[in-house]
Amino acid sequence: MKVVYLDNNATTRTAPEVVEAMLPYFTELYGNPSSMHSFGGQLAKPVQQAREQIASLLRADPAEIVFTSCGTESDNAAIWGTLNSYPQKNHIITTRVEHPAVGNLATYLSKKGYKVTNLPVDREGRLDPDQLLSAITEETALVSVMWANNETGVLFPIEEMARLVKERGVVFHTDAVQAVGKVPMDLSRVPIDLLSFSGHKLHAPKGIGILYIRKGTRFTPFIIGGHQERGRRGGTENVPYIIGLGKACELAQKNMTDENKRVRTLRDKLEQGILSIIPKVLINGHQKERLGNTLSISFEYVEGESILMLLSNLGICASSGSACTSGSLEPSHVLRAMGVPFTAAHGSIRFSLSIYNTEEEIDYVLEHLPPIIHRLREISPFWKEGKGRTAEKGQ
Ligand code: PLP
Repeated sequence: MKVVYLDNNATTRTAPEVVEAMLPYFTELYGNPSSMHSFGGQLAKPVQQAREQIASLLRADPAEIVFTSCGTESDNAAIWGTLNSYPQKNHIITTRVEHPAVGNLATYLSKKGYKVTNLPVDREGRLDPDQLLSAITEETALVSVMWANNETGVLFPIEEMARLVKERGVVFHTDAVQAVGKVPMDLSRVPIDLLSFSGHKLHAPKGIGILYIRKGTRFTPFIIGGHQERGRRGGTENVPYIIGLGKACELAQKNMTDENKRVRTLRDKLEQGILSIIPKVLINGHQKERLGNTLSISFEYVEGESILMLLSNLGICASSGSACTSGSLEPSHVLRAMGVPFTAAHGSIRFSLSIYNTEEEIDYVLEHLPPIIHRLREISPFWKEGKGRTAEKGQ
């Protein structure tokens, strides 16, 4: 069956160039880079080269890059690593729309006695930097705010926030899992202390992540073991995946302008096409301050899961809310935090594109989605009841 993969915020295809770069490290070059013998030791150089490729994408120093197993580990390491470095402080500030890798940890910490401030967002998913500033106290150990939201693509003003937070002398962490490779970054200019990202959102394999730790930042290792990663993360280096992530970052840097522009044009075509054909549709998230690859869209009076199943029968892969929350009938915490009306939040779909999508695929979706929505609305009692009214008018 034809597959139209529009679920790239959940995971991406591993780039063929990445697979090719990794292959020798599974077969003939399988040593341990920490070994004393030259067979293992020869791997230190390619690992260092990958560190440089990653640092170059972030405009950071290669020594500030720490390899982890995934975005979730990086987020946990950033938060625990800071809290354990400032045992006298017991307050963290984050937002209501974080990925569970931060959000569920914050909930856990609040049960363990930490004070947690969850900043609200407005109807378009935006944060108010003034609210962040007024939440900071003497007790605040850390501010953790995501760079781009995985469900709506909404971008937070991370550079401005990092500066404001650093002026108050507080550690600033950003979960940049959805932003790296899509948003230009220059960590030599922006005072972010800690930044997390994950390989599988960037055309590298699943199971490799990065924690950027700015030089001079106080950090207690989260995974305690061997001396790897200059004592900041124990565990034998995952050499093939490290090489793959280095290559993926090199490709992302090349694609940052032209390819990302093409992806945005395709996303806009999909959005405009849907809006022009299907009535009673809401776009979730700020029109401009949003990733160019993401479209979160609500179809009033239908179930997102039903839309997904019918799209899936046609080979079209999308997602309702985040991949982690689909399967539950609760509307996503992100849409709830934004105040998206219930009748719309339930019928929300996320399309997320990548450089591998084509115009022909967008046309395929625009051909098949309208009859699906029409069919589902015809059998929806809520649609019959609510016809002619819109959720925006407050129902
Ligand atoms: N943070 C965000 C914003 C994400 O979108 C994800 C994955 O969906 C994660 C963290 C977790 O990353 P990983 O799947 O590599 O653990």
